[in-house]
Amino acid sequence: MKKFILSTFILTSAIMANAQQPMPIPRNGGDPKLSEIWEPQVPVVTPGKTAQDAPSDAVVLFDGKDASAWKGSDGGPVKWTIADGAMTVKAGSGVITSKQGFGDCQIHIEWRTPAEVKGDGQGRGNSGIFLMGKYELQVLDNYNNRTYSNGQAGAIYKQLIPLVNVCRPPGEWQTYDVIFTAPRFFPDGRLQTQARITVFQNGALVQNNATLWGGTEYIGAPEYKAHGDKEPIVLQDHGNPVSYRNIWVRPL
Ligand code: MG
Repeated sequence: MKKFILSTFILTSAIMANAQQPMPIPRNGGDPKLSEIWEPQVPVVTPGKTAQDAPSDAVVLFDGKDASAWKGSDGGPVKWTIADGAMTVKAGSGVITSKQGFGDCQIHIEWRTPAEVKGDGQGRGNSGIFLMGKYELQVLDNYNNRTYSNGQAGAIYKQLIPLVNVCRPPGEWQTYDVIFTAPRFFPDGRLQTQARITVFQNGALVQNNATLWGGTEYIGAPEYKAHGDKEPIVLQDHGNPVSYRNIWVRPL
């Protein structure tokens, strides 16, 4: 009985942890073929040259030259500076927004805070990646720059403290690799399931399947407000010339 309860618990937990793809239950029996599963077939994807290059099924949002997958804060073309294989925040020009919306997805994005260090705390190399336009993965120069722990690079701003500070020095390119599970809402707008996020910064895990508590707020507690299944990615203009390059997304 104990064993049954335990195995039921493990199975239920496994299904809950991976709600979209419950483990197929292999058939028992004396033949090893009974526990082989052949369908569905796994889609073939051509990998990039390195793990930082887009696999063949990725949506490339910025390749270093072409910013046409984005729009500026007035709905027109991006006003940030596009040069030297990067796009850089032009202070005061406002956020930029991807034309395409995304729900559950994998994101690769590279960012660089200014080599010339100016300001401190939240004022040094601040930008941010707003998933679904609402949930900010903080971009900040936290190399020898202390700020509140839930507001530093790798944080979900004012919600989730990163596991480590793995920032490179200012002026160096850094990477985020993100796995994002969008929140779900009932048709009447009530929250069904919270969003979750896993983030690697420069190859080190900084968010481990962490649960988000709502949209990012500067003042007060986060709160969920119902939104679409797919929403754009927004990059923040916080007044500092932070650069981005090599941005690709794999919808999941
Ligand atoms: Mg920010």
